[in-house]
Amino acid sequence: MANFGLYGVPKLMLKGVSKTYASARGRTDALHKIDLSVKSGEFICIVGPSGCGKSTLLKLIAGLDAHTGGEILADGRRVSGPGTDRLLMFQEPALFPWLNVLHNVEFGLKMAGINEKERRAKALQVLELVNLLKFGNAYVHELSGGMKQKVALARALVMEPQMLLMDEPFAALDAQTRATLHEELQQAWLATKKTIIFVTHNIEEAVRLADRVVVFSNRPGRICREIPVNMARPRESYSYAGIAGLIEEIAAELKNPVLTEQDTAREELRGEGYSQKVSVSYTAHSSVAGRFQS
Ligand code: ADP
Repeated sequence: MANFGLYGVPKLMLKGVSKTYASARGRTDALHKIDLSVKSGEFICIVGPSGCGKSTLLKLIAGLDAHTGGEILADGRRVSGPGTDRLLMFQEPALFPWLNVLHNVEFGLKMAGINEKERRAKALQVLELVNLLKFGNAYVHELSGGMKQKVALARALVMEPQMLLMDEPFAALDAQTRATLHEELQQAWLATKKTIIFVTHNIEEAVRLADRVVVFSNRPGRICREIPVNMARPRESYSYAGIAGLIEEIAAELKNPVLTEQDTAREELRGEGYSQKVSVSYTAHSSVAGRFQS
């Protein structure tokens, strides 16, 4: 079960987080007043239309870019830059082609000054966790796309971040490979209980992996819905009764993003007309908690 962290402080807390990019070409409002609270060990999937600010949100949480409004707290401390507690994994695994798998996984530990014996032991442990132990001596060009992502996952896990931020890591993989990686990621998550924030545009993937799916509106990204997924783990196939209904519900939300009364009222007051860009109807934040009891 996911828990609140030390003294009940959420692992991650976003309070009214906004991001506006400013460049010579003008200003882009990427995110608008995001409020989100994440428990320690929780697996959150963020889905939303392309360009709604999902990657931006991960970069802000990772501290790789600065938010322009609101506040981000990790373990109750304000995020003002990168930290070893928050690690961002990209769609492209970006491995070192001149190093074998084992040395790729060990690289970060080496940079952190961990001695060879200790880093070898840790690297082997995570390679086992992602079922890559047999490929420790292989080089990147010898690996499939799925295996490369598993190396990237192992390389992230070996650093023992408390929070793993994953930006569409499986988007380029075929469906079968993705399904296998879903199983392995769940196993790794169950074994390590990391807090994971996972961005995807694949609704099935979100429902399969998440404790909670957070649905974003069109840009500027805002949260339309938070949908708990109460199904037993590990979730081994897409054949659970009812999963199709949940997928349909999220798909409908994405087609017709529904803002909360609070959001809409705020926008009307601000007179910014965001509602013209999305089809708006009035509803309270709703949930389907309890529909899929494990
Ligand atoms: P998503 O991940 O949901 O596809 P992004 O977070 O990549 O969306 O982008 C959100 C919006 O912010 C887009 O309109 C994008 O063009 C813009 N954007 C992203 N990064 C920058 C940047 N560095 N400078 C200016 N605009 C940016």
